[in-house]
Amino acid sequence: MGNVPSAVKHCLSYQQLLREHLWIGDSVAGALDPAQEPFQLSGLPEYVKIVEVGPRDGLQNEKVIVPTDIKIEFINQLSQTGLSVIEVTSFVSSKWIPQMADHTEVMKGIRQYPGIRYPVLTPNLQGFHRAVAAGATEVSVFGAASESFSKKNINCSIEESMEKFEEVVKSARHMNIPARGYVSCALGCPYEGNITPQKVTEVSKRLYGMGCYEISLGDTIGVGTPGSMKKILESVMKEIPPRALAVHCHDTYGQALANILTALQMGINVVDSAVSGLGGCPYAKGASGNVATEDLIYMLNGLGLNTGVNLYKVMEAGDFICKAVNKTTNSKVAQASFSA
Ligand SMILES: [Zn+2]
Repeated sequence: MGNVPSAVKHCLSYQQLLREHLWIGDSVAGALDPAQEPFQLSGLPEYVKIVEVGPRDGLQNEKVIVPTDIKIEFINQLSQTGLSVIEVTSFVSSKWIPQMADHTEVMKGIRQYPGIRYPVLTPNLQGFHRAVAAGATEVSVFGAASESFSKKNINCSIEESMEKFEEVVKSARHMNIPARGYVSCALGCPYEGNITPQKVTEVSKRLYGMGCYEISLGDTIGVGTPGSMKKILESVMKEIPPRALAVHCHDTYGQALANILTALQMGINVVDSAVSGLGGCPYAKGASGNVATEDLIYMLNGLGLNTGVNLYKVMEAGDFICKAVNKTTNSKVAQASFSA
């Protein structure tokens, strides 16, 4: 059993999975024994970068305030999994998001490993300067493709938000700090319903044009399907190269993995996910969490794609945070593996 964590080792269903589906048995890189190479779908990238958003996007939407030391331990555990990007926290006013009030303590408290990036959300210049003072070396700005969502979520119009982001990204560039841009509601809005591909493209182009190195298209309420994902990407990819795009899918309607697979086949190789499927959206009632990192890795391993991430270690980190916040995991892979 090698280095299989103890919490997983005793589990009967895990052992069955290991026997029957050899792809989850790989312990480190997700690479496969060539003899066991699975059926390959066309158009897929060889490597997929996973952006772990659990500590920020995930915990931000948990109702119970998570103690700072638990957050730090959670992020330190994630740093041991092979993940190369872990979004840590948000430098937003605690008035807006009390869960992120300890952003400075968390940022200063985590162990930062070489080779791993630890971006933080910075909604404005003030947040950006605080983030940098706390040791952040990468930031993100969070825009929306829906006017109503922008007003309700970040309290300003899309145009006003872009002006703020422009200041942040400009300052970041001066300091050689990479900035990532989010476009939320890219596949639908809780207030406006359908969002046109043109609008998503317009906002994405604006963020890319101001200097964001990567644009993450977010299905914030998880209403997208492979059909709408394809339509949005076809439009956005006319303006932004696929290497600078990421997808961020929620699983509200059970479409997240199918949507991600569609994006991968269209040339995207950066995917956001959250351990245990943490999160949701306070502005979209009933919206379930982000796609679970465990489920994403399981699928990617099965496709023979390299992620560099160890599924078992991610499951251990997921188990840790679920116990700490007293919730059941939303990861189907973790449910199946831990429940026997
Ligand atoms: Zn999300």
